[in-house]
Amino acid sequence: MQTQNLGYPRIGSQRELKKICENYWAGKTGYKNVLQVGKNIRHENWQLQKEAGIDIIPSNDFSFYDHVLDHSLMFGAIPKRYNEVILKKGNAELDLYFAMARGYQKEDLDVVAMEMTKWFDTNYHYIVPEFYKDQPFKLFSTKIIDEFYEAKQLGIKSKPVLIGPVSYLLLGKEKESGFEKIDLFKNLLPVYIEILTRLVALDAEYVQFDEPFLTLDLTEKEQAAYQHVYKEIRKAFPKLKIVLATYFEGLGNNLALTTSLPVNILHIDLVRAESQLETVIASLGEDRILSLGLVDGRNIWKNDFSKSSAIINQAVQKLGSERVWIAPSCSLIHSPVDLDNETDEQNLAAEVKQWLSFAKQKVTEVVILKKLATQESPASTQQKLEENLIAINNRETSTLIHNQAVKQRVQALEEKDAERLNPFSTRKVKQQSLNLPQYATTTIGSFPQTIEVRSWRAKFKKGLFTTEEYNSLIAEETAKAVKWQEEIDLDVLVHGEFERNDMVEYFGEQLAGFAFSKNGWVQSYGSRCVKPPIIFGDVSRPKPMTVKWTSYAQSLTSRYMKGMLTGPVTILQWSFVRNDQPRAETCTQIALAIRDEVVDLEKAGIKIIQIDEPAIREGLPLRKADWQNYLNWAVKAFRISASGVQDETQIHTHMCYSEFNDIIQNIADMDADVITIETSRSQMELLDAFADFKYPNEIGPGVYDIHSPRVPKREEMITLLQKAQSVIPAEQLWVNPDCGLKTRGWDETKKALIEMVEAAKEMRKTV
Ligand code: GLN
Ligand code: ZN
Repeated sequence: MQTQNLGYPRIGSQRELKKICENYWAGKTGYKNVLQVGKNIRHENWQLQKEAGIDIIPSNDFSFYDHVLDHSLMFGAIPKRYNEVILKKGNAELDLYFAMARGYQKEDLDVVAMEMTKWFDTNYHYIVPEFYKDQPFKLFSTKIIDEFYEAKQLGIKSKPVLIGPVSYLLLGKEKESGFEKIDLFKNLLPVYIEILTRLVALDAEYVQFDEPFLTLDLTEKEQAAYQHVYKEIRKAFPKLKIVLATYFEGLGNNLALTTSLPVNILHIDLVRAESQLETVIASLGEDRILSLGLVDGRNIWKNDFSKSSAIINQAVQKLGSERVWIAPSCSLIHSPVDLDNETDEQNLAAEVKQWLSFAKQKVTEVVILKKLATQESPASTQQKLEENLIAINNRETSTLIHNQAVKQRVQALEEKDAERLNPFSTRKVKQQSLNLPQYATTTIGSFPQTIEVRSWRAKFKKGLFTTEEYNSLIAEETAKAVKWQEEIDLDVLVHGEFERNDMVEYFGEQLAGFAFSKNGWVQSYGSRCVKPPIIFGDVSRPKPMTVKWTSYAQSLTSRYMKGMLTGPVTILQWSFVRNDQPRAETCTQIALAIRDEVVDLEKAGIKIIQIDEPAIREGLPLRKADWQNYLNWAVKAFRISASGVQDETQIHTHMCYSEFNDIIQNIADMDADVITIETSRSQMELLDAFADFKYPNEIGPGVYDIHSPRVPKREEMITLLQKAQSVIPAEQLWVNPDCGLKTRGWDETKKALIEMVEAAKEMRKTV
């Protein structure tokens, strides 16, 4: 029996990578220092895994920005527009790489970055490979070979990790018509062969191909490509031990295909798809090794040793222990780095901490699981097992987790709790009492979180400001924002969200059942890391969360102040969630807490309340067959949160970066009175789904992009609104930006919103 790891976090335990890269981009340090920090992180990671006792340690899992981009550079899939970056300055490979990741603006060169998108259903974003007709590939960057050699120098014969050829192609995008990306495997395969040849020459014994697409729906052509490339690789390297890594879902109907591929070790995800074990074993064949992905790479909970051991025993009985490997479910880049850094009990209670495990701890868990199975050093592993049992038992019964009142409330929910009192057609008439004009103007919630505002919060957290001092600064900033919105004549105002650090964290901090780490960072993209809250227990709302600031803002104006809340699905989606109950259950608990807040805002006289759900779409399961079930409970959770109010109270929701075509019925089922969406960069095209569906409720299609400081022209916004009006009746339309303005500066925000209000006024003249 062997242990393997599929990938280790590369940000460094203190986010060293973030810091050095950002310094480099700001011109504050030289590239040699960047390379050195990368090297240090790799060495530390390898050493740590070796000391923990991992048998097969990965290399090439390190990346300065993104591992998919590393592959594009490795294969020379470099879009032409970067040629100049290379020629002009003779830059180091690193500069070309960062130019592809982030764009390049220096001297007279201005080259845009490559596109970025989400890595399967994680919150990690990768740089999308760009493919052109007859796309050539050639070995360009030798990073994978260099890093294998580097590990070897340290006495570690690592397992280089590559994204498999089919998954790499499927991750990319066709940038012109006339070809299918999957057909490019013919051009790509020789580069894989060349890389493997060089690795084998350096005495590589194992190689890992990540093929997560084997857990998704595949076309016949894609299946055939799988057969072809692995047959060819096998033919070229009869002795190389190939690990085929699948994760994020079960193999499902790709099982026969997968087990027909000529590889030596098949890795499967038994956290996401526990039930696939038996069927996979049954079709595994005579001598293939099965790698059991048992330690959850996507979440922060301690592994349950007795449960995992039972699964290992089951596999060992059928396969024998030489044919069983133990591993995390997927790469650990989706886990925070090291729980040992959480030393502040005030912040993370010891009782909660004992239930958790971050990447470093997970590596150790993998090793202990093997020792338990092979009866290696029985005394010390027995002790580990007992400690684990205590922690697991404690979590099962802890009063911190279980709140009977919450469980009963969820139990007692009825259909009518997820329904407004009357259908939209009736509510619409009653809401006319709001007296809003056509093309009513509003914003999505946040106003600029300036360095100053953020510095107040930092000082407050450090104890350098008293609560009173902090609150009075926030109050002043809010008052200024309210006054200014009145001045420019917006119809529905917002308080600006100055008191909020982050739209999920702000609510998590006030809800029972949430915990926060100090250093539990996870890479989101490039140097950007996020620190998701940890939902460990039944969720409830001890007291109102937003009523004070919203009422204060309302008291400053006679116009409508919109209450601003984050919806249950988004709170769930952007947190680490419980694994001891279904996601749907946790989501319903959050929905009830938000519902109470909505009702309290209504009681406080707030007439318009927005419940943001930007993450609904990204929560979609990887397999289409599972979509409906998810959408059912997700939409219902939103409805529960929104349905405690009278017909006259207008509920808004907001969604950004979404396509709506295939889920428009579900969006309609959410039954928000008004939905604001991001549409400006698609030139209103995203609105077509609503038009084709004859979406009955009101819609605010974003009229300008908030991702750049550029101030839109009034005419551009009028053109977009005319486009919108050509597919959606004017009486259904609102006017607003694409999303919140917290990342913008005040100067551009003011200019843009003034133009937006004027554009709406122009439109009103036409009705
Ligand atoms: N109300 C939030 C804001 O304006 C919405 C953010 C989002 O949709 N991501 O910041
Ligand atoms: Zn948004």
